[in-house]
Amino acid sequence: MRLRNITGSREVIKESVFVVHEPERYKGKWKELYGNENPLFVEIGMGKGRFLIEMARQNPDINFIGIEKYSSVLLRAIQKLEEMEAEGETLPNVRFIRMDAEDIAEVFDREELDRIYLNFSDPWPKERHAKRRLPSRQFLARYDRILKKEGVIEFKTDNRDLFDFAVEELEPANWKIKELTYDLHADERLCENNVMTEYEERFSSQGNPICKYIIYR
Ligand code: SAM
Repeated sequence: MRLRNITGSREVIKESVFVVHEPERYKGKWKELYGNENPLFVEIGMGKGRFLIEMARQNPDINFIGIEKYSSVLLRAIQKLEEMEAEGETLPNVRFIRMDAEDIAEVFDREELDRIYLNFSDPWPKERHAKRRLPSRQFLARYDRILKKEGVIEFKTDNRDLFDFAVEELEPANWKIKELTYDLHADERLCENNVMTEYEERFSSQGNPICKYIIYR
């Protein structure tokens, strides 16, 4: 899905009302942006936004933010919202941020988030890149600051090596497993209300089982 160099994507993002520009300004006051007290859920590495947009559609009383590092990928999500608006459907509860999640603690205050979703995060297979993996202990420490004490993280992937790594990272980072499956789509209870991501649809249709955990502190 690497669409990193689409001409003009940065310009479109700069002009888009769906994107939060200078997100650091909202640190500690994200509720003001939405004008309500609803819970705040974030997806990190949202890609083209299929999951986030569908979640926002199904849950109008929850505010959603999607974080994506690459302009050319984020552009696709913006286009989806623009198309929906052209057809008369608006989603006031979803916004995007273009940033590297490494800086996430500069954008959200302590305990500002109610939930974090990690979907099909990049595997970074080389050991020396382990700390770049979004479910690594380095990232879990960042999430620990910004997630409410009762908040949870939900992680899905078809990459078994990445999933095993993510599970091993939990104990040293002081997180506990609330739910875990190595085959989400075969688990009727955990799959209830499951919203598929772009990658999930692609890889499950190829027969890959989807792993998922939900973790808490
Ligand atoms: N979540 C989507 C899905 O399941 O279909 C996209 C999965 S894709 C494999 C991973 C996405 O995460 C890519 O769009 C990538 O640019 C983004 N990403 C990876 N590392 C990131 C980071 N540190 N900060 C923000 N986005 C990141």
